[in-house]
Amino acid sequence: MIALGEIKTYATKLFDLILPRFCCSCKTKLLTNEDTICPICFSKIQLASDERLKIEFERKFQNKNIISEFFAPFVFEKDKELQHAIHSIKYQNKFQVGIFLGKVLAANIQSTRSDWKIDLIIPIPLHQLKKAERGYNQSYYIAKGMSKVLNVPCSDQIVKRKKYTESQTTMTLTERQENISKAFRIKNKNAVKEKTVLLIDDVITTGATISECGSILLESGAKKIFAASIAIAD
Ligand SMILES: [Zn+2]
Repeated sequence: MIALGEIKTYATKLFDLILPRFCCSCKTKLLTNEDTICPICFSKIQLASDERLKIEFERKFQNKNIISEFFAPFVFEKDKELQHAIHSIKYQNKFQVGIFLGKVLAANIQSTRSDWKIDLIIPIPLHQLKKAERGYNQSYYIAKGMSKVLNVPCSDQIVKRKKYTESQTTMTLTERQENISKAFRIKNKNAVKEKTVLLIDDVITTGATISECGSILLESGAKKIFAASIAIAD
């Protein structure tokens, strides 16, 4: 009898023949056992050290008392492999890259944050207008990949975005905080009551968005908020 895994391998081989898959960064052809990004590019992604994560937590979250703990496996570097991967989820409709990165993130959480007891995974929502423009929320696919590995439910139906926030990249820190304040509303308070929620974003820069979303979850009765992202950025 042929195992299901073997059938999957044969199917992948067949699909690769008809429709080859390419590395999302260097664009070389992927082998059957490779997923999304080739091993060479993957090995070049800069890892976030424990020391760096501690400093980032202190800078972005500690004073606010909203996010209990934070984790990101990688450091975001401009024009490098991880940016190519994240860029391809955002702008090229490659949602399987999101699922792949979500699985990587979840595996890292399992090995380094095994004490995290999570009830629910929530991706930071995009505003409907932005979602319509882009077609989907990339963080939702990261959360979906995580949900499969961690065996914890994820939902993008609990928190909604109220305001259309303009691209924040050109704003100062204060402007970003004002822009993001009161940006979210909870659609279903019962779903978060007494729950430990893991909030997901692709890249965390100031932490303002995650904190704002976490604060409204706590106001709505959530017990504890963890936050995770694929990468941290300055
Ligand atoms: Zn590559």
